[in-house]
Amino acid sequence: MIKQLVMATNNANKLREAREILAPLGIEVLSQREAGANCDPEENGATFAENALIKAKAVYEAVKLPTIADDSGLCVDAMDGGPGVYSARYAPEGQHCVKLLEEMKNVPDGKRGAAFECTIAYIDESGSHTMTGECRGAIGHEQRGTNGFGYDPVFMVGERTMAELTADEKNAISHRGAALRELYKYLKERFGE
Ligand code: IMP
Repeated sequence: MIKQLVMATNNANKLREAREILAPLGIEVLSQREAGANCDPEENGATFAENALIKAKAVYEAVKLPTIADDSGLCVDAMDGGPGVYSARYAPEGQHCVKLLEEMKNVPDGKRGAAFECTIAYIDESGSHTMTGECRGAIGHEQRGTNGFGYDPVFMVGERTMAELTADEKNAISHRGAALRELYKYLKERFGE
């Protein structure tokens, strides 16, 4: 099994989640800062996979250690899968949920389905591999809850919004958790225990 993996991020939540899920493999997950990389490439891909590969490649070229990067976003059925790769750029900071509720105000229940999607790219000296995770839900009619970030206050999973779940409850069903569990399986199959 590989001993170390660099994650192309300095986001503490993403690092914690990756560390928890990969811990049984005995892999140490380093942030890009800890690995000595200072990369912020332009994420101009058309898909989550393209953007994840852009980020992973930039850090891999700098550190030459096995590297992962993730890219994620919200895909709303009534918006033909948007905002998708534009999720972060959809609205000014703090306005994402407000703008989405306004855009969805005439969409009836039953047509408000949506999914958080996440792709993780893994790169080492022999090439790259991507894995995806999805979390399906629906867009609510108001913001509820204070946990999480981004679109969590308007993303309904059952009767609660994602922002009303604890971190552990969210990780158990989240798109990023699902993609990380795929990564766990991939590393285990490829490198053994
Ligand atoms: P990134 O993958 O960190 O670049 O995230 C892209 C954007 O998608 C974020 O800025 C959020 O707006 C949205 N997003 C991704 N994952 C989540 C999530 O778990 N909850 C809420 N919003 C998310």
